[in-house]
This record gives sequence, C-alpha cells and structure tokens, in this order.
Amino acid sequence: MTEGTLPTLTQSAIRGIACKCPRCGKGRLYAGFLDLRPNCEVCGLDYAFIDSGDGPAIFIIMIAGAIVVGCALIVEVKYQPPLWLHAALWLPLILATTLLPLRAMKSLLIALQFYHKAAPGRLIDREPK
Ligand SMILES: [Zn+2]
Repeated sequence: MTEGTLPTLTQSAIRGIACKCPRCGKGRLYAGFLDLRPNCEVCGLDYAFIDSGDGPAIFIIMIAGAIVVGCALIVEVKYQPPLWLHAALWLPLILATTLLPLRAMKSLLIALQFYHKAAPGRLIDREPK
C-alpha cells in the first residue's frame, strides 16, 4: 500500500484492534500500556492528531458493567452466595473485562478517527461576498 491510498473501514478496524498505525498498519501505536508514540516508526505518521478522550473508557465501562452486573445478578438470584464470594468472583472479572480490552478499544477509536478524519470543530468564516 502506498502512502497516497487510504485504508478501507475494515482495514482501519483491524489495524485498530491490532494496535497498529492507522495509516500503514505496520508501525506500533503504543510506547507503553496506553501511552502513544509520537509518530509511526514505519510511515512517519504524526500521532499528534489523536484525541480519543474518554471514549474508550466509556465503551469499556458500559460493556463491562453490563457483563459483571448481569453475572452478579444471576448468581445472586440462583445461589445467594455470601458477600465475600461475590467479591472473590467479580473483582477479577471487573479487572479482566476492563483492562484487557482497553488498549484495543482505544486504538480502534484512534483508527476510526483517522479513517473518518475526525477533528475538533472549527468556526468558519460566513462573511457575505
Ligand atoms: Zn504507519
């Protein structure tokens, strides 16, 4: 793929889930767990445009909350276990359902931001001609 061609939506989503550069799909996106590199080491794309904000965390909270609360309600209604067992069951599930998909969700939103060329809004000049 040359630098002039843009990836399709499916390519962008796959690159996002794989935590790769949204333009070339080869360079790594992260320098740490959630810290981004300044640019792509393969194609040189400047990552300064990236602004995923709280989007990944919100998606993860909503999905993980539904999973954990649903499971906790089902177990409580069927078995009525003691509270310590609830803590032993759901704390690891909370960690697994929030921390594991967070990198992939953040990079997916970054790839979609790149694909859709999403940027902060700007005021346009509406002077009459
Ligand atoms: Zn790249």
